[in-house]
Amino acid sequence: MKALLPTLVLSILGLVTLQEGYDDTPYLPDGRWRVHDKARPRPEVVTPGTGTAAPSDAIVLFDGTNLAEWKAGNGSEARWKLTDNGAMEVNGTGDIQTRREFGDVQLHLEWRTPPAIQGESQGRGNSGVFLMGRYEVQVLDSHENQSYADGQAAAMYGQRPPDVNASRPAGEWQTYDILFRAPRFEAESGEVLEPALVTVFHNGVCVHHAQPFIGSTTHKRVGTYTPHGETGSLRLQDHGNPVRFRNVWVREL
Ligand code: MG
Repeated sequence: MKALLPTLVLSILGLVTLQEGYDDTPYLPDGRWRVHDKARPRPEVVTPGTGTAAPSDAIVLFDGTNLAEWKAGNGSEARWKLTDNGAMEVNGTGDIQTRREFGDVQLHLEWRTPPAIQGESQGRGNSGVFLMGRYEVQVLDSHENQSYADGQAAAMYGQRPPDVNASRPAGEWQTYDILFRAPRFEAESGEVLEPALVTVFHNGVCVHHAQPFIGSTTHKRVGTYTPHGETGSLRLQDHGNPVRFRNVWVREL
């Protein structure tokens, strides 16, 4: 209670409370906000509706029974923990990625941060969905958890906050439905002809609509593109927090 008092007093006085973020990082290309800008307004909190089984034409990447579609970063067997209720759990064995590669996709997955809240800001329920292994849609416990706007749940990490914060509380299952269009590169020069585009529904709420990635996901820097192939593995991040995933499927577009 003692530690809370100064914050409470500041809140009561209507002054700015301490928040995570940076004021010494480079500006994003629009010149308005720095990468992870601590002054960038946090999205409005909205209450989400409900979620989904794989359609018949989907490639099921995880149905709760095995990790056959996944491998570790070095190509060996994926070693995330299978839970007894049909989920897989991050366990410190590193990121996992799909054995198959994808380009343009519709992706559905469900995730859950630990019910017992531990840590704060980026240390609380952090994971991530890396399209083509490069372009991250952030996974984080962003229910009443202050962090920089472009790093909260459903953010295009380090680039664009979700339009609203549709997060459910820690321990509740949440859904992502993602439409992804791979970037197009000029074959010879590697020039970006079309950037990667993403549309994200978080718990059924559209939070990005055909938004371009500035480049690959980075931390504290402005991402850039490096030319790559037409397909890539879907990667899930091990950020050291025991986040769970279930019901993962894609439809190639
Ligand atoms: Mg992450």
